[in-house]
Amino acid sequence: MSCDYGKIGKHFMSSVFALVDCNNFYVSCERVFNPKLVGRPVIVLSNNDGCAVARSNEAKALGIKMAVPVFQIKDLIKHNKVQVYSSNYALYGDMSQRVMQTLTQFTPDLEIYSIDEAFLDLAGCKRINLTEYGRNIKTTVEKWTGIPVSVGIAGTKTLAKIANHLAKKSKKANGVLDLTTAKYMDQALAAVAVGEVWGVGRKYAGFLKANGIDNALQLRDADDNFIKKKMGIVGLRLLNELRGISCYPIEQSPPRRKSVTVSRTFKKAIASLDELLEAVAAYVSTGAEKLRQENSVAGVLIVYVMTNRFKDDYYYNSVTLKLPVQTNDTSELIGYAREGLRGIYKKGGQYKKTGILLHDLGPETLVQANFFDTVDRNRSKKLMQAVDAINCEMGSGAIKYGAVGVGRNQSWKTAFNQRSRSYTTHWDHLLEVT
Ligand SMILES: [Mg+2]
Repeated sequence: MSCDYGKIGKHFMSSVFALVDCNNFYVSCERVFNPKLVGRPVIVLSNNDGCAVARSNEAKALGIKMAVPVFQIKDLIKHNKVQVYSSNYALYGDMSQRVMQTLTQFTPDLEIYSIDEAFLDLAGCKRINLTEYGRNIKTTVEKWTGIPVSVGIAGTKTLAKIANHLAKKSKKANGVLDLTTAKYMDQALAAVAVGEVWGVGRKYAGFLKANGIDNALQLRDADDNFIKKKMGIVGLRLLNELRGISCYPIEQSPPRRKSVTVSRTFKKAIASLDELLEAVAAYVSTGAEKLRQENSVAGVLIVYVMTNRFKDDYYYNSVTLKLPVQTNDTSELIGYAREGLRGIYKKGGQYKKTGILLHDLGPETLVQANFFDTVDRNRSKKLMQAVDAINCEMGSGAIKYGAVGVGRNQSWKTAFNQRSRSYTTHWDHLLEVT
């Protein structure tokens, strides 16, 4: 069975999630510091390969597609005076931090899902008008950071994603859509193409369409056995989520490609830097392993810490590290993460959560050599392959880095230990890493 139905019952009755997503994030960041760009077509290019990775609405209206190589649209750029920027991850990381910091005002339970998206657990806010609350989130973020956002609210994370998608598209919604009531649900789901549904991916989108399932509504009403046979447990969870049955609490999500995040809420707050360093090293190990499974490398690493939101001395901070060379080497990433954490750690804080986010992903094969690169990439690759092979054979964590620590009762593990440790081999726990 896909989920524990005892738990589902509880979630079904009580869960409310908001997905806050920054609009055209990189372009919006550029606009904050260069208001002349407002109202004009703007694109931001990827790190190495010269593709458009962010587009303003005006650029989208010109027909510039996501990830299009810039040389293919040279004439279009010239004729329409499209403003072209290289990506500036230091700036985007800093703006991301400001947005996330602002969002912590609205809930104690926040999951940073990507550089420009966060899920907010609003289960405690059910008695208030959620549309108004969403509107308040939107205006506050815009006022405090200059970044426009859209807010989708629903009973499951998958539906919140859909609500967000529609909030962006619909003039009437004007950036905020609450789908917690069933009134417009069918209409909303019918308006979303199946390939746009969170976790469906390109491979399954083609398969579903070939079987007459074109939109989210048809997917919701699809036959359980058929979906389970073709898409496994992940597919069944998807159906449940579309039906309003929450299968993904905060910090758990279906597998995905765009970035890798690993975070954990500690059962007991942690004050010691050493323990936080171990926790971060462990999360980086998991994240790097995930990258290697998909033959990807990351160019940006974000580390963040949060103390208990209900305490007076609430503290949230993050650091964005632009890596000199894209990598998936565990020891290299641990080194950066530790350095980053030391920079944001504030003594005396009672830390409730820490997490890492690997961003700017690219295929391993395209890593560009850097003249100043001091790492022997071939040697590192062979070592990682050996580590992964042993961990695959002997169980995850059979070989781990010293930085992760060796104690059995590390307090950062406490919350983690409530769940199965076989998260790389068990369907049910695969989703801890997203
Ligand atoms: Mg966005």
